[in-house]
Amino acid sequence: MMKRIVLISGGLDSTALLYKSRKDLGADAVVALFFNYGQKSYKQEIRAVAQLTGGIEVVVKDIKDLFSESRSSLIDETLPITKMVKGFDGYEFVSEGTEVEFRNGVFISCAISLAMQLFPTESVEIAYGATKMREPYIDCTNEFVSKFDGLSSLISGGRIRVVAPFLEKGKDEVWEIAKECGVPIFATWSCYDGGDSPCGRCPACLDRKILEARDANHN
Ligand SMILES: [Zn+2]
Repeated sequence: MMKRIVLISGGLDSTALLYKSRKDLGADAVVALFFNYGQKSYKQEIRAVAQLTGGIEVVVKDIKDLFSESRSSLIDETLPITKMVKGFDGYEFVSEGTEVEFRNGVFISCAISLAMQLFPTESVEIAYGATKMREPYIDCTNEFVSKFDGLSSLISGGRIRVVAPFLEKGKDEVWEIAKECGVPIFATWSCYDGGDSPCGRCPACLDRKILEARDANHN
């Protein structure tokens, strides 16, 4: 039986992928993998994950030491995620330094090792929820996925593959999949910041607002 390890963050995209995987493969074939990498939003994310498991086994790994020197604003407490700057039409919020050094590469590498540990004989897919973006991060591109897929295939004799099923899908398509698959969207956490409620200003919050507004207009 094919197994699938889904990288999850408690956000909408990865939860949609988790629920879609459960629908396609069955809950017994799916394992959710969550990382504490020292992100500011760790507490909010793990709380969301606890509400979103949908009967799927969740593995939580603490790898925050690996990112102790990170200069990412998602991790470094001295760097704000959003800053107010003077723009063309007055002040506006901008986000800087939200990339985390080789984060998806580290996550996928850990997942490949975990796949070898948990499922020594089965076929396994490592799936992550990267979506199509206007200016994609390098680790959310076809080239990145296919290189990791080649590497995992090489070390496992083709048994372990790396896939990103939403790579050609826009955020709005993923939103529809989330609804179709019964994701409790209110329980997901997308914000990069660690406040009690979403900051409303970071890129994840802005994406979310656009989708919610579009959804409200449709209904
Ligand atoms: Zn936010």
